[in-house]
Amino acid sequence: MRTKAQYIERLGKMNRNLYCNGEKIDRLDPRQEGALNVMGLTFDAAWDPESKDLCTARSHLTGETINRFNHIHQCPEDLHKKQDMTRFLCNKVGQCIQRCMGTDAANAIHTVSYEAQKLPEAKTAYHDNWLKWLKRFQEKDLVGCCAQTDVKGERLKCPGQQADPDMYVRVVEERSDGIVVRGCKVHISEASIADEILVVPTRALKEGEEAYAVCFAVPADYEGVKQVVHFHNPRPRDRYPRGIEYGYTDSYVIFDNCFVPWERVFLCGETRHGGVAALLFALFHRHSYSGCKPAMLDYVIGLAALAAEINGIEKAPHVREMLARLIMTGELGYAAGYTASALGKPEVYIPGMGFIPYGPGNCIPHSIYANVGRCLTGEAVFHEQEILCNIAGGLPATFPYEKDLSNPETGALLEKYIRRNPVIPVEEQIKFWLNFIDFALSGSSGSMLYGAYHGGGSPIMEQIAITSQYDLEAKKDIVRKIAGMSLPKQ
Ligand SMILES: Cc1cc2nc3c(=O)[nH]c(=O)nc-3n(C[C@H](O)[C@H](O)[C@H](O)COP(=O)(O)OP(=O)(O)OC[C@H]3O[C@@H](n4cnc5c(N)ncnc54)[C@H](O)[C@@H]3O)c2cc1C
Repeated sequence: MRTKAQYIERLGKMNRNLYCNGEKIDRLDPRQEGALNVMGLTFDAAWDPESKDLCTARSHLTGETINRFNHIHQCPEDLHKKQDMTRFLCNKVGQCIQRCMGTDAANAIHTVSYEAQKLPEAKTAYHDNWLKWLKRFQEKDLVGCCAQTDVKGERLKCPGQQADPDMYVRVVEERSDGIVVRGCKVHISEASIADEILVVPTRALKEGEEAYAVCFAVPADYEGVKQVVHFHNPRPRDRYPRGIEYGYTDSYVIFDNCFVPWERVFLCGETRHGGVAALLFALFHRHSYSGCKPAMLDYVIGLAALAAEINGIEKAPHVREMLARLIMTGELGYAAGYTASALGKPEVYIPGMGFIPYGPGNCIPHSIYANVGRCLTGEAVFHEQEILCNIAGGLPATFPYEKDLSNPETGALLEKYIRRNPVIPVEEQIKFWLNFIDFALSGSSGSMLYGAYHGGGSPIMEQIAITSQYDLEAKKDIVRKIAGMSLPKQ
């Protein structure tokens, strides 16, 4: 396992393929620092005696101790631990911990490549290739990101119907030594600080769309890959340093006729398995949200409770009701994820076939509970902001700049008029409101909300997964029996 310093040192040696605001930039650009601090925690935690057990696992390939973010879940206990690790680490930064996308893509590809390799028409030994890649990923403790979301062009058209066929990443050439891919994946979290990019399809695919059924991995600085990066950092601080400087990034990842050798290809042309790869990454990722969403609720509850205390309204009935609502959402999301872990099995839902055994035996969370938890907590994020706004009042929207607070002409006056709860030192109240602003009223918080709502798929995608997999007929039968109706003939 690596340390944070070793991880950063390796990034510093990578090729320059990051672009931002018209410039080509280095991976150790100061604007990446917040995101590196957050990712660094995933390395620190694996060495820390307090969190070692939660944040490491035994590799099923080598028996060695590895970072849990690089583990293939073998049993429900592994899924419980991933959920708890995610909540634990997100609680240290008050935002996404950033490393789960690679974990979720790895678990999806591990499963799909196994099934695809069995097909007589398989173009290469997909699962053997995968296991080789995975062994290195685990041994070198690499950071993966997942590039699933295609630009998608016209939303109501399939990949094959688009005016420009590159709206979904596709294979443009098959060669004896590998494939050439073209297209662009968007909103790819932490691609700019990752070692490897794992690529999976976005959606279900049908016959004729073989070129889009492709899974592969390339180094994040690979030839033929360009990343256009967006930074999400809170406003720099001067007099009131944060407990941790955090941030995150995402990239447009452009594959510009990028050559991928066969040994890094894990699926190529098998449309049914391409669709399962899309579904499985989404499923593993929605399960990860059952760790990070409760953690974000922990943070929002803390913000709401402290704002109420500072405003002296913590006993007001409407505040208690709002706090209860936040607690219920967070813990329901956690409970749904816990159940999804407990009921985890090596099975996937295939339309028309129901739940069938799939993959080499690794553990897959229960789809209904993972989707229910993700959808409930994702849709709640804007209501959570409404609660924070309600309890805080207008103060965070017009809060003075730091330099006005330290200016001898205005500082003491501002401190006098900012103070609300006389028991809490005004300095503490100022630190709290600056932090509240970072979370609720900054540019980076806006992007975070969009991620919290759409990440892992927009709510409609979760609702489609839930309603298409749920046994509605069994529910109708409950009513039919109690109403004395006749049951439909089988
Ligand atoms: C901050 C952030 C981080 C992210 N990180 C990652 C990442 O690391 N990796 C990754 O792969 N993705 C990532 N995503 C992408 C995320 O998964 C997508 O945003 C999500 O799947 C929605 O896709 P979209 O943004 O293209 O929106 P759209 O799919 O365009 O959705 C917009 C609206 O159109 C509707 N719509 C779309 N298609 C149809 C249709 N066929 N029929 C009817 N209605 C339709 C949707 O329901 C929605 O109402 C991230 C997104 C954000 C915002």
